Amino acid sequence: MPGIIQKPIKENFSRGGRTSQLGLVLHVQEGEGSLFERFSDPATRSSAHFWVSQAGEIEQYVSVQDQAWTQSAGNAEWVSIETSGFAGKPLTTAQVDAVARVYAWGAREHSWPLEVTDSSKGRGLGTHAMGGAPWGGHACPGTIRAGQREAVISRVRQSHGI
Ligand SMILES: [Zn+2]
Repeated sequence: MPGIIQKPIKENFSRGGRTSQLGLVLHVQEGEGSLFERFSDPATRSSAHFWVSQAGEIEQYVSVQDQAWTQSAGNAEWVSIETSGFAGKPLTTAQVDAVARVYAWGAREHSWPLEVTDSSKGRGLGTHAMGGAPWGGHACPGTIRAGQREAVISRVRQSHGI
């Protein structure tokens, strides 16, 4: 994605092999700070396409043509975005705006629909939790951040003319 910080990782993802572009999966970091170093460590065995700081900076680690190792069985169909902070705290306004920037780009480039989904077989802006056990059985990103997805989609409509 143009206009953001590109920090391609060399480990912890699979080249190609994507079967579709169903949309974007929201994650929570449960921590602070760039994930580039962690995702560059071969021992980590996980990654994400994008990461958003509390201040709304966006880093991209993996091309959306490749599979980040984020939500197991969903890696071939979904793009992933990690958000700095904790499940008990909402996304900052800057983070909502940043996720909306990524989503607006995906809507234009990959036809992601402007809607929220809670199904791993649906399309739109989803959550890690929606994939259940095949996606690792995580509660990520928690109900607070999951509940902010409508605000992200509203922001896409307001600010990006889609
Ligand atoms: Zn997650």
